[in-house]
Amino acid sequence: MIDFSLSDEQKALQDMAHEFALKEMRPNAARYDRGDVFPEDVMTKAFEAGFLSCNIPTEYGGGGLGDLNTAIISEELAWGCAGMFTAMMASSLALTPIVLYGTDEQKKTFFAPFTKKMNFAAFCLTEREAGSDAAATKTRALRDGDHYVINGSKCFSTNGGIASLYIVFALTDPEKGVRGVSAIIVPRDTPGIIIGKEEDKMGHRASNTAEVTFEDVRVPVKNLLGKEGMGFIVAMKTLDKTRASVGAAGVGVARAALEHAVEYAKTRVQFNKPIALFQNTAFKIAQMAMEINAARHLVWHAAWLMDRGQPCGKESAMSKCFGSDVAMRTTIEALQIFGGYGYMRDYPMEKLMRDAKLLQIYEGTNEIQRLVISREVIGPIK
Ligand SMILES: Cc1cc2nc3c(=O)[nH]c(=O)nc-3n(C[C@H](O)[C@H](O)[C@H](O)COP(=O)(O)OP(=O)(O)OC[C@H]3O[C@@H](n4cnc5c(N)ncnc54)[C@H](O)[C@@H]3O)c2cc1C
Repeated sequence: MIDFSLSDEQKALQDMAHEFALKEMRPNAARYDRGDVFPEDVMTKAFEAGFLSCNIPTEYGGGGLGDLNTAIISEELAWGCAGMFTAMMASSLALTPIVLYGTDEQKKTFFAPFTKKMNFAAFCLTEREAGSDAAATKTRALRDGDHYVINGSKCFSTNGGIASLYIVFALTDPEKGVRGVSAIIVPRDTPGIIIGKEEDKMGHRASNTAEVTFEDVRVPVKNLLGKEGMGFIVAMKTLDKTRASVGAAGVGVARAALEHAVEYAKTRVQFNKPIALFQNTAFKIAQMAMEINAARHLVWHAAWLMDRGQPCGKESAMSKCFGSDVAMRTTIEALQIFGGYGYMRDYPMEKLMRDAKLLQIYEGTNEIQRLVISREVIGPIK
C-alpha cells in the first residue's frame, strides 16, 4: 500500500521543527551568517528542543528518531538556516557510527554527555589528500599495548573546533590500505589534539569548520568501533544513512527560496503589473515547485527504505544529489526573480544561493553520488 500522508505524530514533529526554524533560527540567520561567532544561544535552545540528540536511541536518553522523521525535521531546520542546520546535522552524522556499530558500553559512555547538555561531535574522514578518494586516508592509529596512538590531520571537519567528541578514521594496519582503516572514538580532552584555524566559508557560515590534527593522541583500544579494518565500511554505511538528510536540507533551502520569490513576484510591479503576471516568471515558479516536490518524494522514499532496513545506497545517493541540485537551481532562479535586489545582502536570496552550493559538495560530491548511482544502475559489464 502506498500512503503519502504523514501521521499525527509526524505532523506534530514537522510543526515543532517549523516553529523552531521560524522563531529561533530565521530571526538570527543573518547575524550568524556573518560568521564571527558560533550561534550558541540558538544551539542551546536546539538542545533543549531535542534536535541535538534526536538520532540517539531512546534507551540511551535520545529522541530515537527514525530516518523519515529525521528527513522531515531536516527540511524544516534547513528552511530556517542551512548553516545552523549543518552544525546540528554534522553532530548527528558523527554520532551515527556509534548508533550503528557501538557496543552497549560505548553507547552508554559516549551518548550520555549529548543527552545531558549541549555538546557537538565531529566526523573526521576527509584529509587534504583524501577527499572524494576517502580510502586514501593517511592518518595512522598504531597499536601500543592497550592503546592506539593517532597521528595525522583531518581537514574540513564540521564542528571540528567546538566538538567534545571526534570519530576518527585512521589506518590501524597501513599495509592493508583501505582494509586497514578503522573508526575510533576520540574524546576532545585527550592530549595531543590541535585545532587549526576556522575555515572562512562562502556559506553555512553559522557552522564551524576546522582542521583537526592528532599528534601522538593515545586512546584506549576499547574506543574502536566495530572491528579493526572495518572503518571504511563504517564510514560508507554512515553516509548512506545520513545523505537523505542533506537531500532534505536541499528541499528546505529550495522551498525557502521559492516562498520568497512567490511573495516578491506578487508585489514587485514593473510595466504596470506584478512581475508574477509575466509568463517567464510564472513558469520559473512552476518549474521550481515541480522540482521541489520531486526532490521531497525522492528523499522521503530513501528515508522510508532506511526505516525498513532495506538496501538504499542508490536511493540515498539520488536523494542527496537531486535534492541539492534542486536547491542550487531553485536559488539561482529565485534570485533572478528578485533582479538586482536579489544580489543585495539586505534580501535573503544571496545567502540561500551560497548555502545551496555546499549541499552539492559535502557528504560526498554530487559527482561521487552519480558514480554510486550509475554503478548500481549499469551493474557489471562483461
Ligand atoms: C564546509 C564543508 C564541510 C565539510 N564537513 C566535513 C565533515 O564534517 N567531515 C568530513 O570528513 N568531511 C567534510 N567535508 C569534506 C567534503 O566531504 C569533501 O570536501 C568532499 O568529499 C570532496 O572532497 P575534496 O574537497 O577533497 O574534493 P576532491 O575530491 O578533490 O574533488 C574535486 C572535484 O573532482 C571531482 N571528482 C573527484 N573524484 C572524482 C571521480 N572519481 N569521478 C568524478 N569526479 C570526481 C569532485 O566531484 C570535485 O568536483 C566538508 C567540506 C566542506 C566544504
